[in-house]
Amino acid sequence: MPDCIFCKIVRGELPSYKVYEDDKTIAFLDIRPVNAGHTLVVPKTHANNIFDISPEDWAAVSETVRKLTIAIEKGIAADGVNIAMNNREHAGQVVHHPHVHIIPRFKGDGLKLMPQRTYKEREAEESAQKIRDALKQ
Ligand code: AMP
Ligand code: ZN
Repeated sequence: MPDCIFCKIVRGELPSYKVYEDDKTIAFLDIRPVNAGHTLVVPKTHANNIFDISPEDWAAVSETVRKLTIAIEKGIAADGVNIAMNNREHAGQVVHHPHVHIIPRFKGDGLKLMPQRTYKEREAEESAQKIRDALKQ
């Protein structure tokens, strides 16, 4: 994808603080980190997000995320790590090339990622059933 910024990073046409590379994936520092060491893992082959990445590329990204999470916790001396992925615009996706955020966390860093709520009556059962039905399609 010629104009995709993460494809440009993969091709070396844009600079990045690359921390890892293998045949299917690369990992580099997010330019605007939540905490220092915040890393993005991306497939080398262009796709938009989780909805169209190939199962093989997703498996490779997942394994790179696992490896990098261990290295980030150790290397950055983090107290914990969040793993996140935004898929589609209304979920906060800005760069339309699949990427998983690995965010080192520190005791007392004060970040609260997502507000949570309780289910209304029947909402949990209905939601679970919709997902089970979609899996059968
Ligand atoms: P998302 O909202 O999940 O699409 O996140 C896109 C992320 O890419 C943001 O956290 C940006 O800070 C990051 N980003 C954008 N451009 C670059 C770049 N050239 N190098 C590294 N990270 C970038
Ligand atoms: Zn791309």
